[in-house]
Amino acid sequence: MAQHIHCSVSNCHYWSQGNVCKASEIIVTSDSKAVDLPDQVDAKMAAQFQETPTGSCMETCCKTFVAKDAPEKSVDGIMKQS
Ligand code: SF4
Repeated sequence: MAQHIHCSVSNCHYWSQGNVCKASEIIVTSDSKAVDLPDQVDAKMAAQFQETPTGSCMETCCKTFVAKDAPEKSVDGIMKQS
């Protein structure tokens, strides 16, 4: 069964029409953790991430986000699927 991540962040490199995320994989973490991590650290390293419990969805973020046409889009090994 096909699985989709739905996302409305349309200026992300991985976003696609219909609010579908086309990233090969993503990592969601806490805002407070994500701010400390470099762009190279992403879903490929998910098993090494610390657990980051939060109080609400407002404190979580998609670490995989990268703006369209940003040079950082190729530094983490995540691929945009067709
Ligand atoms: S990588 Fe994250 S922010 Fe970008 S489209 Fe996918 S879920 Fe949304």
